[in-house]
Amino acid sequence: ADEARIALDNLADRGAHLFNPTLRLGVAGLSRAGKTVFITSLVHNLLHGGRLPLFDAQSGGRIARSYLQEQPDAGVPRFQYEEHIRTVLEDRLWPQSTRAISELRLTIEYQSASGWSRLFAPGRLSLDIVDYPGEWLLDLPLLEKDYATFSREALERARLPSRAKMAEPFLALLAGLDVSRPADEPTSQRLSAAFAAYLRACREDRTALSTLPPGRFLMPGDLEGSPALTFAPLPLEPDRAYDRDSLAGIHGRRFEAYKTIVVKPFFREHFARLDRQILLVDALQAINAGPEAVVDLEAALTDILSCFRPGRSSWLGSLVTRRIDRLLVAATKADHLHRDSHGRLEAVVRRLVDDAIERAQFSGARTEVVAMAAIRATREASVTEGADRLPVIVGTPIAGETIGGQRFDGETETAVFPGDLPEDVSRLLKADESGDRLDPLTFVRFRPPRLERNEAGLKLSLPHIRLDRALQFLIGDKLA
Ligand code: GDP
Repeated sequence: ADEARIALDNLADRGAHLFNPTLRLGVAGLSRAGKTVFITSLVHNLLHGGRLPLFDAQSGGRIARSYLQEQPDAGVPRFQYEEHIRTVLEDRLWPQSTRAISELRLTIEYQSASGWSRLFAPGRLSLDIVDYPGEWLLDLPLLEKDYATFSREALERARLPSRAKMAEPFLALLAGLDVSRPADEPTSQRLSAAFAAYLRACREDRTALSTLPPGRFLMPGDLEGSPALTFAPLPLEPDRAYDRDSLAGIHGRRFEAYKTIVVKPFFREHFARLDRQILLVDALQAINAGPEAVVDLEAALTDILSCFRPGRSSWLGSLVTRRIDRLLVAATKADHLHRDSHGRLEAVVRRLVDDAIERAQFSGARTEVVAMAAIRATREASVTEGADRLPVIVGTPIAGETIGGQRFDGETETAVFPGDLPEDVSRLLKADESGDRLDPLTFVRFRPPRLERNEAGLKLSLPHIRLDRALQFLIGDKLA
């Protein structure tokens, strides 16, 4: 049934495509990676002729017109572009982050670059941008797992030294619990709440761990409180059959319901229909939290990337008929570093996904890595300290942010020396022999910038770092 429905969806997509070429671009990334900011800036820069020198169609003056259109899927929330851009431009604050899936259609009318195609009417491409939490991607591997396997893996992970402290209250509930006793709702709710609290604690800034399925426990969407979201991994005895109505039995059924009600529809209705994908990664946050967080991010990226090229024999693989042919992994918020460090940031992320790609046997789709800031909130400068010139970034920290005891009021510009990323990437993955940690980067949140003039000096647009390179890779060939 799943196969038939995907085939039908694809057929419908293709039929529509004949009349109006479309490209479905998935935008994913773990919570707060920068999805909302990326889409907001992309749309604004296309609608308002932003400064995008590396995006050929725009810099070559071949885009006649870009405009928003009614999205194809009426049942999916619309990406609230107008509200987000108003927050950025008028309040100079960051927009409300992604909580669930949303969609937006941007249509671009362009002149083809080649003389021959120019003879025909102007081209038109509808870009369907699909924004969804990366946490939901981490759920896809669950489809291949039964409840016993899920439980075993989740509990092994909870006992890792890097997680022991966060997991303690949950593990304490499990100690002495007889999972074969009849289930009752208060116990299930307590277990589930403790498990979810542990997952959330792992995501906090200080720890910044990434591999945390089930994703809806962090990003519930509209299913909060339903039985499909009220379960937890339990210590099961191997190969023992539990009674249907025991704790183990009920939680196992709810886990299966989670897969059927939550994971499969997401996969079928959204993921299986994407043509291209950008995966946003906040590597800086993980780097600052320390080696455990970086290793954990690497594991999460491996899991996420494995979803894009599932093996043919798996449930996922048998259903993907339309394959993502380009995947961009973008390290976001590069404006928190001086330009001198952008190359290193890119190298870190490349290193993290290179391993992931190898381990996940990922091949086929063109993959690129870029260090990017969808909205550049800082500019670069240097300050002289004695005989040294320090590269610094200048911006307006958000009210309440502090550096070294100094508290900002949200109106004052300040120069920050962010620190350097190490040349040797492996230093980020483990503490060195002496156990010494790297000095953390100085990381403050800046307010969004004012608009700046584009190349021709005619239009005002949002400043960014390498958004144009990202666009060229993701859609440039479709506008050639
Ligand atoms: P989402 O959860 O993936 O939708 O994340 P958001 O797009 O809401 O971004 C989370 C936060 O990261 C924002 O509120 C900003 O503080 C910050 N951020 C995201 N992108 C950028 C960027 O390009 N530059 C800067 N300076 N901050 C960013």
